[in-house]
Amino acid sequence: MAFVETKKLTKKFGGLTAVNNVDFKIEKGQITAIIGPNGAGKSTFFNLISGFYPPTSGTVIFDGQDITKVPSYNIAKLGMARTFQTTNLFETSTVLDNVIVGYRLRTKSRLFDAVFRTPREKREEKEALEKAIEVLDFVGLTHLANRQVALISQEAKKRVAFALALATEPKIVFLDEPAAGINPEETDGLAELMNKMKDNGITVCTIEHKMAMIMSIADKIMVLNQGMKIAEGTPEEIQNDPVVIEAYLGG
Ligand code: ADP
Ligand code: MG
Repeated sequence: MAFVETKKLTKKFGGLTAVNNVDFKIEKGQITAIIGPNGAGKSTFFNLISGFYPPTSGTVIFDGQDITKVPSYNIAKLGMARTFQTTNLFETSTVLDNVIVGYRLRTKSRLFDAVFRTPREKREEKEALEKAIEVLDFVGLTHLANRQVALISQEAKKRVAFALALATEPKIVFLDEPAAGINPEETDGLAELMNKMKDNGITVCTIEHKMAMIMSIADKIMVLNQGMKIAEGTPEEIQNDPVVIEAYLGG
């Protein structure tokens, strides 16, 4: 059984079909990549899987459970995390505080505990700090933990986004164009980090435009074009697929 499976997944925005009848499987422990031109429906596909948009029709199965109608905050609790194309960080706070706050927002302590600083609240604060230190180490940002976010590089901000996603100990992470806007050397570093997630048992699904990177790390690739799956396979199969070459890789 696939870890995540979509069946005839469809999303219409008015007259536009952004995701059209997509059947797709993500296998546990793999790095799966979704590629396709701008406007192909990649981000919408993530939004459907992670519960940010209700699909117009079709089904999403996660770990054997039908999650089609489950809202995003509950899907997150089931072990799915995601990053967005643009990450909104608190620029005037430190890297560490961003991760702590992000973690606490997602694990959400009760207002009563927060206001009265109950023992439970103190315990959760400590847990959040420990978790933040752990994930910052994982993503290679320990040395920047106390730096203000406004002062760190674009690439380091991507790593903070990864840290935020990882803090909730997800079984699977969805990364929306993690390498957009950073240089080739930094891209290699992010690829390494994705491999490290995989080595640590986290299933990774990423949307990416940087072909060389994708071809080197993905176990499986799906190509979307105008909302439709036009191909899927290993990097080698995709690179040699005439339909993909014509529609996407530019002949
Ligand atoms: P990609 O991530 O592949 O670039 P998107 O999933 O963002 O593509 O968008 C697919 C199509 O759906 C585009 O034509 C886009 O304009 C449209 N779209 C995406 N989100 C919305 C929305 N919330 N409302 C209306 N149209 C949308
Ligand atoms: Mg997108």
